[in-house]
Amino acid sequence: MSLTVHTDDRIDIVDVTEQVERACPSVDRGLCTVFVEHTTAAVSINEAEPRLLDDLEAFVTDLSAPDGWCHDALDGNADAHLRSSLLGRSVSVPIRDGDLALGTWQSILLIECDGPRERSVSVTVTPSVE
Ligand code: ZN
Repeated sequence: MSLTVHTDDRIDIVDVTEQVERACPSVDRGLCTVFVEHTTAAVSINEAEPRLLDDLEAFVTDLSAPDGWCHDALDGNADAHLRSSLLGRSVSVPIRDGDLALGTWQSILLIECDGPRERSVSVTVTPSVE
């Protein structure tokens, strides 16, 4: 299953938890893998508290100098690739009793590093064989 996620800014964070929950096929137990299919975006799990999201956006911005990289000669977005590499492109969440077993304050966050764009996020569920 693939989700389409719209982002609004060059660096942007979108809570995709509900979209992932809706996309998950129904299984009692298993593992849900969320993978962003791009080299200038990332996915992470954290608290979707607005002030923390502002902090995370500022932190992500500070992860890289904005220019001066070799790849910039090609398409000017080396900093976005570097941020994506540091942050990672997938997370795995256990499925327990048919639901994502996220902690109370955990949300699945798409982190845009070169927006605004439309992003594809794959959601794959591997059922447990217990
Ligand atoms: Zn590039």
